[in-house]
Amino acid sequence: MKEKLIRFMQGRYGIDKLNNHLLVFVIVLFILNMFINQPAILILGYILWFIVIYRMFSKQIYKRYNENTKYTQLIKPITQFFNLQNKRLHDRQHKYFRCPHCKQMVRLPKGKGKIIVTCPQCHERFEKRT
Ligand SMILES: [Zn+2]
Repeated sequence: MKEKLIRFMQGRYGIDKLNNHLLVFVIVLFILNMFINQPAILILGYILWFIVIYRMFSKQIYKRYNENTKYTQLIKPITQFFNLQNKRLHDRQHKYFRCPHCKQMVRLPKGKGKIIVTCPQCHERFEKRT
């Protein structure tokens, strides 16, 4: 049985970030549908679900890979934002700033008082309190 499944999935695309996110969205839509009974939500949920299944079993791996790359590029600012918030939350030894000139993220040790910071990217100097 397991070998049959492996043989069936050979050369097929499988799961990626886009599929995972779509699947979560589908589940959210179905849960939402339980509270507000809107046929449109249900239809959209089924369409997206169909897309997830289609992408998973697709043999056009290159196309699916490109779709996923486009999607990850699209959500990159959101991912970066949450990664930074996560870092800030768990890193109690450092403070994070953006360079006022080039917006590069700069990490500084906490508790050093007022210091002059040189941006590692554009070498702009600015004052910060840590
Ligand atoms: Zn800079």
